[in-house]
Parts: sequence; C-alpha cells; structure tokens
Amino acid sequence: MRPIDDVVVLSCLFIRSVSSFSVSRGSGGARRVATSAAEKAIQAHEAALSRQGASVPASASREAHNSRQANVFSGETVAYFASAEATPPDVAVKLDRIAAAVPGDRVLDVGTGTGCLARRYAATSVVGVDLSSEMIAAAEAPNATFWCGDVVDYEDAWVESGEPPFDAAVFNACFGNVFDQKDALRAAAAVVRPGGQVVVSHPLGAAFVDDLRRLDPTVVRHSLPTSLADLDRIAPAFLEPADLVDEPDFYLARWSRRAFAPLEPRLFLRGPVARGYGRGSKKLGFPTANLPEDMFGAAVADLPTGVYCGWATVADGASYPAVANVGFSPTFQGAENPVKIVEAHICDYDGDDFYDQPLAILLAAFLRPERKFPTFDRLLAQITHDVQTATRLLHDDPILAQLRHHPALQQLQNAPETTATWLPSTDL
Ligand code: ADP
Ligand code: MG
Repeated sequence: MRPIDDVVVLSCLFIRSVSSFSVSRGSGGARRVATSAAEKAIQAHEAALSRQGASVPASASREAHNSRQANVFSGETVAYFASAEATPPDVAVKLDRIAAAVPGDRVLDVGTGTGCLARRYAATSVVGVDLSSEMIAAAEAPNATFWCGDVVDYEDAWVESGEPPFDAAVFNACFGNVFDQKDALRAAAAVVRPGGQVVVSHPLGAAFVDDLRRLDPTVVRHSLPTSLADLDRIAPAFLEPADLVDEPDFYLARWSRRAFAPLEPRLFLRGPVARGYGRGSKKLGFPTANLPEDMFGAAVADLPTGVYCGWATVADGASYPAVANVGFSPTFQGAENPVKIVEAHICDYDGDDFYDQPLAILLAAFLRPERKFPTFDRLLAQITHDVQTATRLLHDDPILAQLRHHPALQQLQNAPETTATWLPSTDL
C-alpha cells in the first residue's frame, strides 16, 4: 500500500462510525486516552493526518473523488467497521434512533458501509449503496441487497430493476463525503415516492463532521446543513425541508418528496397542432399532440427536459388535464426528436384528431426529468404512471385545480394566433 493510501485510510476510518481505542500522537509521543467515541475518532483522524502526504485536490472530478473514497473505505477500514468495536452501545442507541425515524417498507441506504444502519430498519426491503465494493462484500443486513457505486448514478439501475420507488433514502454518516450535496439529494429524490422522505443523519452530530472536515476537507468536503434555510438552499425542486434535529452529538435532517415541482412562472403555449414523427404513440394508447417545433424552440430552450403537467384546451372549447413531454424522446434511440419539442397527451379526450387546429396548454408543474428507458414496456409503464399522477394532481391540488379556469385557456377561439408566454403564479 502506498503511503498516501495508508494515511487516507486512517484519516477516513472514523467518518461513518466511531473508534473505541486510543491512539498515540506520533510514534513515541505521550498517549492521551480519549474518553468519548467522538474524541477517539477525532484523535485517530488527527494522528493519521499528521502522517499525511498529498491528497486529492478539492477541485478534483467526481470520479477522482469517488475512487479515493472507495480506496479509503477498504482494507483494514472494512475490518474495523465490520467489528463489534465500531459500534459501542451509546452509538448503537443513536443508530436505533435514526432507524426508528425512517418510515416505510422500502429504504435506500446510501453509504451503507458494513450495514450498521441497514440492519436496524424495520423495512423489509433495503438497498444498500456504497462506493466501496469491499464494504459491500463485508456488509451484513438480512433485509438488504447491495449496489456498488455513486448514488448519483443509481437511478439507471433502479429503472432497470423495475422495482417500485423507495419510501425513504438515507445518507447516514456520509453526507459530508459526497462530491456534491445537491446532486446527491436530487438523485435520492428521484428514486423516492412522492410523500416519501430523504434523510441525512449522523450519530455523532454535525460538529463532529466539521472536526473531520477541518482535518481533511478533501475527504470530507462539506459540513452538514444546520438550519432549515440551509436544508432549503441545497434542496432540489422535488424536496421540501421537513424537520431538523441538530443536537451536540446527534444529527437528523429530513426532507419530504414532493409529487411535483411547481413551475414558476408557468408556461402558456398556443398554436396549431403539427404532425409528429409518426412513431405510433396513438397505438400505444397515448397519442401526443405536437406543437410546431419552429414556433416554440426559443420558449423552451432553457426549460429542463422532462414531463410536465397542466391544463389544455382544444377546439371543442373544454379544458382537459394534459401531460406534456418537453425534450427529445431518448428512448427512441436512433429516432430521437431532432430538436427539443413540446408534445402533450390530452387526458380523457377521445374525440377526433385535431391536426392543424389550435391547442392551448398551460404548464404548471414539473413531474420528472426526461430519461431513456431500457425497454418500451418500461417507457409505457412510466407514461401510464405519469398520466395517473398528473390527473390526480390536477384535480386534487387546489392551486393546480383552479388553473383549469385560467383566462388564457379560454381564449382559444377568440385569439387563435401562436403564442408562448410566461405567466407568474400571482396571475390567478
Ligand atoms: P403524431 O406523431 O403525428 O404526433 P400521435 O400518434 O402522437 O401522432 O397522435 C397525435 C394526434 O392524435 C394528435 O395530433 C391529435 O390530433 C390526435 N389525438 C387524439 N386523441 C388525442 C389525445 N387524447 N391527446 C393528444 N392527441 C390526440
Ligand atoms: Mg405526437
């Protein structure tokens, strides 16, 4: 093992758990016996850093950062985490407290290590994710299966698995170590069901993470967020801060997964329905009325690709729930849309085709990012789900429900010219 690896292993040994042995400062230095678990961990960390060589620069790529984390959490570190010594009784109590705060039957356990939290959940189905294959090989949690990699890349594996979304995703004692906290939260939120939770926890508290970070900020890149405003600042659109426990030696932050991200301002589009790419959406049960690409390219240039919902009016004058895809349809590999387009399925409309006739659509909520599915069956299952979600939201959410009466939607007959307008939500 090269010297740097040796140092890095030791410097990170205690990030996700605690030590219960004392360490010496330098080879022949005086021993000071640490008392608390955190103190022992910090001392060990400090001792390791005193022998440290070069480290990965803070500006390193995610890949470089991740491969360093994987190296750090290997070898003797794994043996330590797998030992009873790694979880003294006072820490076990706090892990139980964290596990008890995690709802549901399906949990994604990020930075799972050897499974010290994974095996404590009441959930019957746990997926443990870790960058270190050695940790996973040593992990013990009867209810868990494991996936080796960065949670940021986990969504593809989850889609391919065909499994339902998780009730909760938990970052225990690893949220200081992720490459980018907002990206990590976004990835976790993507695999959690609406109404579920994303949790960040640490059995030794936020100050402990700061202590480690001071010693080596390239290994522990971040502090933990310690106010609701902080939780909000790093939250992606789909997460809403729920609560925060920030005690001296215990940390637990929770966000709720929203069913949708409000689109603010809303986007109102009106134009004649164009011919699409003839991929047979109608045969699949979900025809999409395409808006003419040349008229709306500029309006949607900066709009994230994905699935949106809102209300639409067609030539019959009624307003319908609508699910719109903005993007390139990447599942149709080799036949993707040549440009970014807007196409909308009009839910509950089963009248005649309305090519060339005006369509007005008011997009008010973002449901999910556009993504490539491994099979058309999976795409179809997701569209079915998107349509169900959108229909329910548009009727049940009081703000979305009242939008069906928005004056812009009523002007279809009187003002059939093409338009793209951003409408602030104060408008109604
Ligand atoms: P294209 O590739 O030309 O867009 P689709 O298979 O997507 O073909 O079908 C879209 C057409 O189907 C629309 O332009 C519209 O005229 C018609 N249509 C019928 N019912 C619906 C509906 N519920 N939602 C959207 N379009 C519908
Ligand atoms: Mg279409």
